[in-house]
Amino acid sequence: MLDKLKLFTNANAQGMHAFEAAGLGVAPFEFVGVLHNEGSSCDYCGTRISLECWIKGAGGGQFKVGSDCIRRIGDAALAEAHRWDHGRLAHVAALRERREGAAKAALRAWIEENRPALALLPHSRGHKHWRTREPLTLLDEILHGLIYESAPKVRELAKWAQARLASETEKNARFFPGQNAMGCTAGPDNG
Ligand SMILES: [Zn+2]
Repeated sequence: MLDKLKLFTNANAQGMHAFEAAGLGVAPFEFVGVLHNEGSSCDYCGTRISLECWIKGAGGGQFKVGSDCIRRIGDAALAEAHRWDHGRLAHVAALRERREGAAKAALRAWIEENRPALALLPHSRGHKHWRTREPLTLLDEILHGLIYESAPKVRELAKWAQARLASETEKNARFFPGQNAMGCTAGPDNG
């Protein structure tokens, strides 16, 4: 892999476009578009990339670089074209959607595993059911968050809920040795 920093420095010293200094083509360079290709690599720095940003030199030759290089190379026009490219935006949106789905699925699975214990703990802000006025539980609170919150919030919620359950379980173990968070005595059938 080439030394990224050294290439940037060389290009600046020579007053030459970094891609030209690296022998990729002749400036000015034009942004062509992106191509999703897992396991590809950047022609400039050699880093593994999954989104190829194709660039055309004044001589007509084309090459591909990663998003980091196109943003940091010091070519504002290329960076801006990359930033607003619809193919790139769709790619980022799809990645984000996948991550959000994964975060929510993980929390949902954790809730299912801990449902009985969560149903016995109170809502952290003491909320009550709007109609029955019954106190809501931690299970209600987390399910509500799972449905209505965005993925970053859901990740926070998952961490918070896990810490809360752990601390309640620990508290119970301290005050009621031999019982779990559900108030059941640990045993072969209900441990
Ligand atoms: Zn690169």
